[in-house]
Amino acid sequence: MSLLHAGPDAALPVDEAVLTALGVHRIEIPLPFVEGGGPANVLAIEDQGGDLCLFDAGVATEQGWAALSGGLADLGLSTKRLRRIVISHGHVDHYGNAQRLAEASGAQVLVHRDDLTKVLGQERWSLMLAQHRDFFLEELGVPVPVLEELIASTGSGARLALPIDRERLTILEGGERLDFARFSAEVVHCPGHTPGLICLLVAQERILFADDHVLAKVSPNPLLDFSQGAGETRFRALVSYLESARRIAALDLDVVVPGHGPSFRNHRPLLEGLFAFYERRQGILLGRLREGGPASVHALLPAIFRRIDVGRLYLMLSEVLGNLEVLQARGLVRRERGLWVSV
Ligand SMILES: [Zn+2]
Ligand SMILES: [Zn+2]
Repeated sequence: MSLLHAGPDAALPVDEAVLTALGVHRIEIPLPFVEGGGPANVLAIEDQGGDLCLFDAGVATEQGWAALSGGLADLGLSTKRLRRIVISHGHVDHYGNAQRLAEASGAQVLVHRDDLTKVLGQERWSLMLAQHRDFFLEELGVPVPVLEELIASTGSGARLALPIDRERLTILEGGERLDFARFSAEVVHCPGHTPGLICLLVAQERILFADDHVLAKVSPNPLLDFSQGAGETRFRALVSYLESARRIAALDLDVVVPGHGPSFRNHRPLLEGLFAFYERRQGILLGRLREGGPASVHALLPAIFRRIDVGRLYLMLSEVLGNLEVLQARGLVRRERGLWVSV
């Protein structure tokens, strides 16, 4: 899920005939929320021996299911031949229908190890917020009534995705080669937007199936994530994201197929714009700490956001914490008992 706009309009449209020639068909799945940056993409990929592979599975609403099955039928593709479903990352709008499809077809579902708990349905938002209550209060400085409001406003997400049976899952580590009917792709682990996000790189054709790692219109919002532990070894979403994104920016690519919206080219200027966007925010936060003294993540929200609303609070906290962690990694700030201090 993504929300914040970032960077200049660098992404340029491409003719998706290049995908069709490779046996890749993009199906748009409408979302029941606006944060995604438009309908989510499912890629139907012609697999070896006349089989079918899906890259992502769309959200499990009635509308989402109708769009997916209708889209496949329009292409003359049958889920009876579905052999594999590759999940880009453990967000409901990307794995929602995987269980239902796998049950019907016997397909294996491939997912990266670090997003396993998400697709198993063990990481519901409301549960996670309650579990990490102390972190929000003590580490982020969120006032108790605000946290209560946040918890009350958060749905479980359960109606948007069915948990996937463990025995249907094949674990990816990154670096695997997937052979399809007309091309091969490499699984590239790009932690950031989630810890276990993967992209598929078709190196020979200079195409990247980038899902939510590179989006044309919105920043990929690396969110606070406790799935890899909650203490000092906690996943640092934005630090990880920027490392992954710099690796992708270094690739020569002709086509990026994002997780939402049409395919585009010109990913490097787009990512450079995004890096600059984050650097501006880091500069603002550093300035505030230098002038105003130590502050909690929650107290720093107004430095970046004009209006704080509970519907976007998790995202906002993640954004400020993420940028502080980048500054911390550069040795410019440090944390002292839940407060951030400039060095
Ligand atoms: Zn998405
Ligand atoms: Zn996502």
